[in-house]
Amino acid sequence: MKKNLLSGVKPTGRPHIGNYFGAMKQFVDLQDGRGQASDSYDCHLFVADYHALNLIQDAEQMRQLTLDLVLDYLAIGLDPKKSIIFKQSDVPAHTELAWIFDTIVTMPYLMRAHAYKDAEAKNKEINVGTFNYPVLMAADILLYDTDVVPVGQDQKQHVEYARDIALKFNHIFKSETFKLPEPIILESVATVPGIDGRKMSKSYNNTIPLFATREEIQKAVMAIVTDSGGPEAGGVPTNVFVMHKLFKSEAELKPLYETNAGKYKILKEALVEDIDAFIKPLRERREKLASDVKNVIKVLEDGANNANIKANAKLLEAKKAIGVI
Ligand code: AMP
Repeated sequence: MKKNLLSGVKPTGRPHIGNYFGAMKQFVDLQDGRGQASDSYDCHLFVADYHALNLIQDAEQMRQLTLDLVLDYLAIGLDPKKSIIFKQSDVPAHTELAWIFDTIVTMPYLMRAHAYKDAEAKNKEINVGTFNYPVLMAADILLYDTDVVPVGQDQKQHVEYARDIALKFNHIFKSETFKLPEPIILESVATVPGIDGRKMSKSYNNTIPLFATREEIQKAVMAIVTDSGGPEAGGVPTNVFVMHKLFKSEAELKPLYETNAGKYKILKEALVEDIDAFIKPLRERREKLASDVKNVIKVLEDGANNANIKANAKLLEAKKAIGVI
């Protein structure tokens, strides 16, 4: 039996190698059957534009970032013949189901969400959309009878929220409407560090973009904060080594790091080479795809048709369970 996989990325700017190794690579691997040997997946990958609306509040920018993210998806190997690739706002069932969930989720429960607590701790003004983010995300996940959600560590709590909300709904409305999803988080890449050693994040300005030019890679790698006091002490710059391990195995890297202990410039130059060798084909593929915007629009149209069929069927079940039809 095929399992349902769902995940999404917010169109809030260029994705970085943390997004890729933490989540997006798994989308492609699982789509292509490179997961556990016995499992195959019906994949649903979406552009989370309504989530991004909490940050991107400029129409032209939103349109461009959305097309960009679809190009990113296609360039890393997501295949519209195998996966449903769609835009969240094209499937109204997401927001409609989120409203239904709003009526059974309490405010104190949402106040425990990390994203909300972080924003509050920083004294940031929080809009209702950001506060409600986990509810919309629960709707995103639960509409597709999702079994697995490949994500980075920072999204683990959101998948737990989706499970809790599914259980609560099924309990209140004495139904078995929603399936309980599980996150897929790969331990080695659960939180990819940025060039300053903190979690790689667009908002920290510490990223290496996934489709970076060689110059951008060079600039970012040379700016990696070096520190040799970590577990791999003895002249090995921890942050450089940790990043390097994303691209080559420890066994492959060992001789390089032993021979060049303490020679940070040489090690960083080797890292630039390895990142560029990895990114170059992706970058070139993306450039080719970018010349055919019509294709991108068609992918989203087809994806919307397929996603709406599935999502509307599940929404209908939920509406029957609550008694509005
Ligand atoms: P976003 O759309 O920016 O929320 O992130 C898209 C996906 O990338 C989510 O599954 C995140 O958990 C994942 N992600 C973001 N940053 C990192 C990171 N530094 N390490 C691992 N995964 C990440």
